[in-house]
Amino acid sequence: MSKGIIVQKYGGTSVADIARIQNVAKRVVETKRSGYDVVVIVSALGHTTDELIDLALKITTNPPDRELDMLISTGEQVSSALLAMAIDRLGVEAISFTGAQVGIITDNSFTKARIIDINAKRIGEELEKGKIVIVAGFQGVNIKQDITTLGRGGSNLTAVALAKVIDAVMCEMYTDVEGVFTADPRIVKNARKINKLSYEEMFELASLGAQILQPRSIEFAMKFGVPIHVRSSFSKHSGTIISKEVKTMEHIVVSGVALNKDEAKITICDVPDKPGIAAKIFKHLAKENVNVDMIIQNVSRTGSTDLSFTVPAGDLNKTIKVSNSIAGKVGAGDVTVDKDIAKVSIVGIGMRSHSGVAANMFEALADKKINIEMISTSEIKISCVVKKSLGEAAVRAIHDKFKLGKSKR
Ligand code: ASP
Ligand code: MG
Repeated sequence: MSKGIIVQKYGGTSVADIARIQNVAKRVVETKRSGYDVVVIVSALGHTTDELIDLALKITTNPPDRELDMLISTGEQVSSALLAMAIDRLGVEAISFTGAQVGIITDNSFTKARIIDINAKRIGEELEKGKIVIVAGFQGVNIKQDITTLGRGGSNLTAVALAKVIDAVMCEMYTDVEGVFTADPRIVKNARKINKLSYEEMFELASLGAQILQPRSIEFAMKFGVPIHVRSSFSKHSGTIISKEVKTMEHIVVSGVALNKDEAKITICDVPDKPGIAAKIFKHLAKENVNVDMIIQNVSRTGSTDLSFTVPAGDLNKTIKVSNSIAGKVGAGDVTVDKDIAKVSIVGIGMRSHSGVAANMFEALADKKINIEMISTSEIKISCVVKKSLGEAAVRAIHDKFKLGKSKR
């Protein structure tokens, strides 16, 4: 009798070369021998996806999205077949599938498709026969059978979605670090692995710049209560469990500190202080698909006010264009741009029930003479914009202030 199904997702670094694929094969077989049915989702080898995109860009700076998906979905097909062979070599039956073969149906948004349905019948049949099932991550097909991909890091979403559909007991995400840390260990020496996190906290950390899981996959896991275990494929240590919020999590005020150096700040000066102006500006940005993050508007004393907001650096050119045109139309002044910023954020469920958290964060920055340029807060996070060159120092100061390197969880 099977103990249930375990989904294991291996990221690009875990399958970067043949030796690592063989290492993964061993782990998968061990899991199978310990009594579970195993469904494996693989990413493309190492940096394959980036390399494929580079190839396309050598032909055209603006490849058709459909053809781009046709191209970049091949990376995962390579790794899934190689892993099946490596498992077979260990004397255990395995079978690899593309997204289409296991019925992952998406909408038509090439390069960032959404899953609309999964018919996992074939997976069930093969597990029934005692086989290990391997699925190429990151891909599906639309109803016309055109290949689509699920956005960068999309193998995470494949894993979570399949885990839900086949009712897996756990969705393990294998990566090259031991789990989710209180801060990036490359920046903070005594950063600590977090043992347990709620979906909300993980979602915030991922959205705020921690590179570990695709935010969309966490949203999906939260919606359907899929338990996730982020862990290393290079060690046997347990990693970080991400699950529904439980009572004990409330005691942890701050779980982690995130840094995002990939945003820019726009200021539209002397915006007339009249109803409807902000609506106009942000409606136009939304139409251009610009994801506006923090927004600050000051009180006006002279009938006009400065309006600042941040956007992903990649959207900057679009944003400047829209802002200039709007500024002209509504009778505002200059548009200024500051690329020299970093956003430092703290995240924690306990913020809901503890006071003084913001004050402590600001004090940590003040002690290091780091000026705060913008602030935004939500129920479980506080973000500050600082000068880019001070971002890492800010993370260290805040990590120290909240004693994240020592406390236990
Ligand atoms: N290979 C794809 C990427 O690099 C998908 C993934 O790794 O999850 O984004
Ligand atoms: Mg990858």
